[in-house]
Parts: sequence; C-alpha cells; structure tokens
Amino acid sequence: MSLINPFENALSQLARANDVKPFARDLLTRLSHPHREIRGYIPLTRDDGRLQMVEYYRVQHNNWRGPYKGGIRFHPDTDVNEVKALAFWMTLKCAVADLPMGGGKGGATINPKELSKAELERLSRAWMRALVDVVGPEKDVPAPDVNTTPEIMAWMADEYAQATGDTTGAVITGKPIGVGGSLGRDRATAMGGYYVWEALKDRYGLPRVCDVVIQGFGNAGQHMAALFFHDGHRVIAVSDSTGATMNTQGLDIPALVAHKNATRQVNGFTGGEDLVGSELEVSCDVLVPAALENQITRENASRLKTKMVLELANGPTTPEADDILFGAGVPVVPDILANSGGVTVSTYEWEQNKKGERWSEEEVFAKLKRSMETQAALIFAGSQELKTDLRRGAFVLALERLATHQR
Ligand code: NAD
Repeated sequence: MSLINPFENALSQLARANDVKPFARDLLTRLSHPHREIRGYIPLTRDDGRLQMVEYYRVQHNNWRGPYKGGIRFHPDTDVNEVKALAFWMTLKCAVADLPMGGGKGGATINPKELSKAELERLSRAWMRALVDVVGPEKDVPAPDVNTTPEIMAWMADEYAQATGDTTGAVITGKPIGVGGSLGRDRATAMGGYYVWEALKDRYGLPRVCDVVIQGFGNAGQHMAALFFHDGHRVIAVSDSTGATMNTQGLDIPALVAHKNATRQVNGFTGGEDLVGSELEVSCDVLVPAALENQITRENASRLKTKMVLELANGPTTPEADDILFGAGVPVVPDILANSGGVTVSTYEWEQNKKGERWSEEEVFAKLKRSMETQAALIFAGSQELKTDLRRGAFVLALERLATHQR
C-alpha cells in the first residue's frame, strides 16, 4: 500500500478546485462520501487444495448521472482507500467525458500473476457472484483495470448471465469482441489520450517530433507507445514494474512489444539500454505515466525534465507535485481528461449491448475523437479563464455538470 492515501489526494483536489471556483458546500460534502462501500472475502481454493481468503471490494461512489461505472483491479497492494479514490475519480471522469454514467471501482487484494488460469477464473467468477445483486446494466457496470483482462470480463459476464438470465452482456464492458465487446475498446484509453494530446500540443508549443517517455507498459502504455511511434515521434524510454529501457534515437515499439511478450519484461531489450535511475527524470517533451498512482510527488516533481505530463494512469501526480509543475510552467493533462477514452468507449460498448448493435471501429473512433477534442478545448479554455491548471479546470467542468444532476 502506498504511504500517500489516494483518497485524501482526491479530496484535496476537490477542495483545490473549489478554491478557484466556489461550489455549494452540500455538493462537495456529498461527493466527499461514496454512496456505498462493499467489501468481503472470497474463499479461493488453490489448485493444490489450499484455501486462500481474498479480500474484495466494490465502491459505488455516485450515480446521479447514470449507473456506477468503473474498473476492477487485481493487485497485491490494492486496498479500500485506493478503490475509493479510483471510484471518486470515475464520477468526475464520467462527468468530464459527459457520459450518462456515475462512478464506481472494484478490486481484489491479490497478485493474479501468481495464479494459474483456472484459479484466476474461479476468483473472477466468485467476485461477480459475490456482487451479483448490486451490479447490472442499469445499476453498476464494471470494466477492466490493472491486471484484469477481456477474458476475465467474459468470465464475469457469463457468471452474471447464469445467475440472472440477462445475456445482453451490458453488465460489464471490456469484453472480447466475440462476446459483445466493442471494436476499438482495447486501444480506447490510449487513443483518447492521444486525441487530447493532439488537441493541446500546439497550444503548449510542443515540437513537431516529440521525445516521449512512458512509465508502464501494459494496456494503456503499450498502445500509447505504438500511437506515438507510428506517427513518427521518438519513444525514448519505457518502463514496467521490472525496470526500464532507453534509446535516445527512439525505441522500436513493435519490437519492444514482441520482447515484452516473450520475456514479460522491458529490461534486456536489445534495441535499447537498461536504464539506471528513474525514467520519470529523463529529459523529454511528453512524459506519460501509465502505471499506478503517486508516482510524481513533491520529492521528484522538481527533477522532471519534460514539457508536458499526460496522465494515462489514474492519480499519478500528487497535489503538491501539481503545484510544483504548475509553478514551473509544465502542463499536467489530468487523468480525468487524458484517460477518459477508456470509459467513453466502455459506455459505447454498453450502449451497443443494450441496443443489440455493433458499431464499426471507424464509427467508434470518430465519435471518441469528437468527444475528446470537445472536452479538451472546454477544459483548456476554462483553466485559462480561471488562470489555473488543467486539473482544476477539469474538476470545475465536472462539478458544474454534476451540480445539475444532484439528487
Ligand atoms: P496494466 O496492468 O495493463 O499495466 C500496468 C503496467 O504498469 C504494467 O506494465 C506494469 O508492469 C507497470 N508498472 C507497475 N508498477 C510500475 C512501476 N512502479 N514502474 C513502472 N511500471 C510499473 O494496466 P493498465 O490497464 O494499462 O492501467 C495502467 C494505468 O492506467 C492505471 O492507473 C489504470 O487505472 C489506468 N487506466 C487504464 C485504463 C484502461 O483502459 N486500461 C483506463 C483508464 C485508466
């Protein structure tokens, strides 16, 4: 567990937004408390017959704008404060993306990499069974997050269908295409972040060819690296939980993906050099945190040598670090805008399932692009008007939209 409580950071962000544009006290008080926190223990029988009790969570933060929506994280360090913070950010994020969705998040405290496939399936199905009465297409719609995959979503959708008879699949998003997943969902978070970056890069005077550093090489980070690479930018350093690789001429991203798939790490890549020291402090034009929260803090913020931070991860920058970067003129494109492409396409998946439709990838990305560009422009203009940072600008937009739905 991180020493910095992410839920306290989230509340501090709320208060800081209120400092630049005051909102009704009741609105802030209501949003400071989730509607419901569910936690318990799943009895997981390991393949060797051993019983392991796994703590699980679902936090339903707010549903004024629509069903609770948010991913499920399987991680050994996940705890209820982390899940609460992530659920809170989902409420704000769905409002920023102007989706008919509220905020929720779930998790289980376990390292899924230590489980066999059969154990992982038993755990995933048990997670859904434990929550079957409180989730549903009109109640709460989970999705993937760190260490959870389309296959896990398919197991959970099937478990829900068996328990309720609802086979639409609309209870959960991020499913494989064959069982009702949306085309484009796998790349949606990175794609959305890229559209936001494209919308903002000229306003912040970034060069035509950028040097990019990416922390985290999972779903979000890998797709983001590929997008920059294919558009001719140089991705000069990439890290994962085992280490980092660097090449100032630009890493060959398809080759790095192949290396990561083969060895499960970025270290040892022949097209780069293993990096000693922090990838966050490598000189670059765009730094993309795409791993976990609390990575950019008051300890390291002043050592960053980037022209922009683009937050694909949730909560990677602490409020103190925000101030240091704002003071240094480094824009931080906040998570609730930069990574909202994931939940936006998740919502498209939910819509398709409910209507029995299937949209083409072109349709999905065209809709996503319009949405991301619209919100990015609104947040940029709002933060300029309030003479504040993009995070406060995004919070203000979300709070205005939530205020009109308060009930
Ligand atoms: P993932 O599990 O696919 O990948 C996480 C990556 O981070 C892995 O490569 C892991 O090795 C790496 N990592 C973990 N600790 C690290 C560390 N200390 N230093 C460097 N790398 C580290 O997860 P993901 O789905 O890509 O999610 C990453 C972040 O993006 C999370 O904050 C998640 O909440 C956020 N996010 C993801 C989506 C999505 O659609 N996948 C949507 C919105 C937000």
